[in-house]
Amino acid sequence: MTEVPDQKLLWFNFLKIFTRALVQINLYKPDHPQVRQALIEGEALLVQIADSLNGGDFSITLDNDKLLINSTPLLASDKLPNSLKNLFTKFRIQTITFAKGVSGDDLLALCQVQAFKGDAKDFLKERGVEKISLNESVYAKVDGAQPQAAMAPAEQAQQAGAPAAQGPAEKVADKISGLALETALSAVVSRATPDAAEQRRILEILAAKFKAEIEASVNKALEGIRGEKKKVENDMVRAESVMTSMADGVVVVDRNGNILMMNPQAEAISGRPLAELSGKKIMDLSQLESQVVSLAKEIRSDSKTDISKELEKGGSPELAETVKKATAIIQNEEGKIVGTVSIPTDAAKLKQVEQMQQEFIANMTHELRSPLTSIKAALELMSRDASGPGDPSRGILNTAIRNTERLNSIITDILDFSKLQSGKLVFHPENTSAVETAKEAAEAMRAWTTSKGVSLTVRAEPGVPFIYADRRRMVQVLINLISNSIKFTPQGGSIEVSADAGKDALDGFVFFSVRDTGCGINKEDQGKIFEKFVQVAAGEKVGGTGLGLAITKAMVVMQGGRITLDSEPGRGSTFRVSMPVYRGQAEQPVFEQVPEETPGEKSWWQKILGR
Ligand code: ADP
Repeated sequence: MTEVPDQKLLWFNFLKIFTRALVQINLYKPDHPQVRQALIEGEALLVQIADSLNGGDFSITLDNDKLLINSTPLLASDKLPNSLKNLFTKFRIQTITFAKGVSGDDLLALCQVQAFKGDAKDFLKERGVEKISLNESVYAKVDGAQPQAAMAPAEQAQQAGAPAAQGPAEKVADKISGLALETALSAVVSRATPDAAEQRRILEILAAKFKAEIEASVNKALEGIRGEKKKVENDMVRAESVMTSMADGVVVVDRNGNILMMNPQAEAISGRPLAELSGKKIMDLSQLESQVVSLAKEIRSDSKTDISKELEKGGSPELAETVKKATAIIQNEEGKIVGTVSIPTDAAKLKQVEQMQQEFIANMTHELRSPLTSIKAALELMSRDASGPGDPSRGILNTAIRNTERLNSIITDILDFSKLQSGKLVFHPENTSAVETAKEAAEAMRAWTTSKGVSLTVRAEPGVPFIYADRRRMVQVLINLISNSIKFTPQGGSIEVSADAGKDALDGFVFFSVRDTGCGINKEDQGKIFEKFVQVAAGEKVGGTGLGLAITKAMVVMQGGRITLDSEPGRGSTFRVSMPVYRGQAEQPVFEQVPEETPGEKSWWQKILGR
């Protein structure tokens, strides 16, 4: 760099006027004539200096012990006025660079920095000063005792040729560790050279390299992500095309039962497009309700529970079973249920099949019963005509009559069960005599007990109140219980049918009991026998459908009663039925009366009716 004596003079003059401005701004307002004058002079000097540098930057650097102007030492730092020195040290400024075109207002802002408490650079930026830049100092005081080996590479490089003074390595590192990348880089670069133009070039080169490398690694990372995205998109397209081309309706729901996807077939069944149903709860859709097993409860229970046990069914058990088979549970890696895929079957078809099934049972039972009634009538006629008690044909005829009765009761069971399932079993509750009901049931079974050699007694507490029940159905309930007792009580045993008024808190009920001295029922089987198709092996093997107690319990509970069992294997069984006392209830038919159940417990009648 060429130096002419004029230049140095200009520098000295500028330093003088700048120092004056720094002092005056502390004493006067910015528009004070003295301040204005100093700024005008300062601006003029900067113009001259810029000209002398051919438009190049003018930089003032405070090194540890000297002041440098454009890298040229000018003064020892102890010769500097305090106001100028303080500006550098207070804001840890190493270099102040003036670009061509600095205005008096820019200079004013630089002077006002003194009173500012924050970052000097921010202050200038806020004031819109662009022609003056500040480089922060990364120097510490020279510590001669610091060993060379402890210096950072940048400093070592600097030591090899850079003009700036060196500081201990760890202090530089400490200093830049808290700075933003750009500031830290500027700080390091300023150690390499005090020449502001050179510093800017270095920074530009570093920034370009940094940008190129970042771009390269971002592109590399993006390549992987793009590949993954493509794969996911392909999988989605595949899944969607499989779903769309399926003949059945498919609904995908999330773990809360909200609809995520539906194929066109499912849209047709529900009668609404996916766009409208997306996010809605699957069980809120009446069109799908009868076809889709409610999985809401199951889905919410974050467990691996066997879904088949917890299904809430809509429709008959057969219908629910069909839908259950059409439902896949989606689990995550931990085995938690996160969603389901259901194939709602065509409701119309299923309903049709169900109806056909019911009609078939009704017709079949009717067809069976009519010839049976005539056979029984004929047998009874023949039995009456048989010559006498000693006649061997009389015994054969009695056995035949009993068998027709058994067949008849099986047909009744099947018919009642079918009616229960379709909700067509109707009760006509009325003011009914409990004692008469017990007597009527016992009398209907007397012939059988006599022929088997089992005693049958009826005991009624005096003053037992009337009950509110369908008399015919109540007789049927007791007949079912008595016929079981006869079946499972050996010859010589006894059966007692009784009716008692409930005491104290239970005075709103009448208790019927059917007690026998038969084979009894194992404890573990006692809970099961009220379920449909259950026959347990405690006693002798006798015929039956396994429906009797299920129907009996349904009839009791649907009329507001309860049934319990007390039994010990080998010591007989007692079935107790409690029915509500008649208290002037309105007499009207009851269809499928739903009794209160303990929450959480799957009521047995729901199992029968498929609720
Ligand atoms: P079924 O019509 O086949 O008799 P139920 O539902 O009436 O069917 O009875 C179910 C099972 O409960 C019977 O198979 C029998 O094992 C048992 N059971 C019912 N009542 C009695 C009883 N009084 N004594 C012993 N076992 C009984």
